[in-house]
Amino acid sequence: MKKFENFSEWFDSIIFNADILDNRYPVKGFAVYKTWGFRIIKRILEILEQKLDETGHVPMLFPVVIPEDAFVKESEHIKGFSSEVFWVTHAGERTLDKKLLLRPTSETAMYPMFALWIRSHADLPLKVYQSVAVYRYETKATRPLLRMREFLWNEAHTAHRSWEEAEKQVWEAIEIYNYVFKRLSLSYLILRRPDFDKFAGAVYSIAFDAWNPDGRVNQIGTVHNLGENFAKAFNITYEDVDGTHKNVVQTCYGFGVSRVIAAIIAQHSDDHGLILPPDIAPIQVIIIPIVYKGTTAEVNAYAREVYEMIKNEGIRVHLDDSDDKTPGEKFYYWEMFGVPVRIEVGPRDQRERKITLVDRVNLRRRVVNFGDTVRFIKEMFNEVAKNLEERSQQTLKELIIDASDMNSLGEIIRNRKIARVCWCENIECAEKIRELSGGEIRGYRVDVEEKPEKPCIICERTARRVVYVAKAY
Ligand SMILES: [Zn+2]
Repeated sequence: MKKFENFSEWFDSIIFNADILDNRYPVKGFAVYKTWGFRIIKRILEILEQKLDETGHVPMLFPVVIPEDAFVKESEHIKGFSSEVFWVTHAGERTLDKKLLLRPTSETAMYPMFALWIRSHADLPLKVYQSVAVYRYETKATRPLLRMREFLWNEAHTAHRSWEEAEKQVWEAIEIYNYVFKRLSLSYLILRRPDFDKFAGAVYSIAFDAWNPDGRVNQIGTVHNLGENFAKAFNITYEDVDGTHKNVVQTCYGFGVSRVIAAIIAQHSDDHGLILPPDIAPIQVIIIPIVYKGTTAEVNAYAREVYEMIKNEGIRVHLDDSDDKTPGEKFYYWEMFGVPVRIEVGPRDQRERKITLVDRVNLRRRVVNFGDTVRFIKEMFNEVAKNLEERSQQTLKELIIDASDMNSLGEIIRNRKIARVCWCENIECAEKIRELSGGEIRGYRVDVEEKPEKPCIICERTARRVVYVAKAY
């Protein structure tokens, strides 16, 4: 398949032809989300935000600008982000008294406000989220959706009474993201990042790395336990039940919307175009009448009847009865947009009051009675989602290969795969792995305990972790 041989070209053509994103905006790293793409994004956010609401998070919207003095308060955080922030320094001809920056992430926008709002244990936990764009001046080559200077995400920030409560929150966040990613049929590894690669200001970071056809993993979500680091910097304290004043313990987590849609395209789509999980498809069913001279009126009328019936069931359906394209051209067109189920209605279907269903993943056909249409559509939705998930899981399995020595590690990375490696946890060995293979240690799994069965791949001392090594976006 082209996507495994020439990923970039294949990916660019899909995002352009399926109306996801137009990358020709005249500022590098900034792009226009077009209608089909933006509709998909709205559906993804709907699933995520509903889950956040259900678990006690509340929506808010913080400003895009952060004052310099707030940004510099947490010393690790500023070290991590200072090289990539966009500064706002002027208003017209005047120089601003206080420099502002565009949020690269919102800890330093939110936490000064948290310090005002949190007074006592009764104000905790506080769980806030927002879906916004963030700005980072990436110095590496930008890539549409995968590495942009403006990208969309949802970020959640929480404050708690204790480390234990924050730890529980980390796991709740992992479960929320798992739930949403599963609804999207995605496959990924949930990895605790090595300390040298954790979020700037965090005690530790856990990330979701989705596989990509070119072997470069795509970080689609992250969850961080911030401990008391920001609480100390921003003086976020509360009065506990016993009257003592304590720092809150915080977590934050980010869901990379732009990268999630990139993962959906990269994992599910094929040489015909996009393939969308039914939950997020802007159009779930496309009806195409197959008309011949002499039967046009009857077939179109029957197609309309089918359309009305499906629409009344709350399914997102569209009837393409335009006469400027042949049925074959319409098949091709809607395949590009990834509509999960196609219905063909021809003269024979009309005479026998049947319809023909075709699924987008395997292009399998099934002829059913008019009265059974909705039941079979729903069944096909489930099959499409299941097939996408199974296929994606299978590919992830095939991409992961055990590296027994440095030669095999180098070869695995060169072959655009993910290496499974035993590591002693020393940074010197991590640096050697990067130098010698070109891949980086992404971390160890937190959802499955893996005991190293071999010594460290570099120094041959006792290994402490089984880690995954790959190139990354
Ligand atoms: Zn070692």
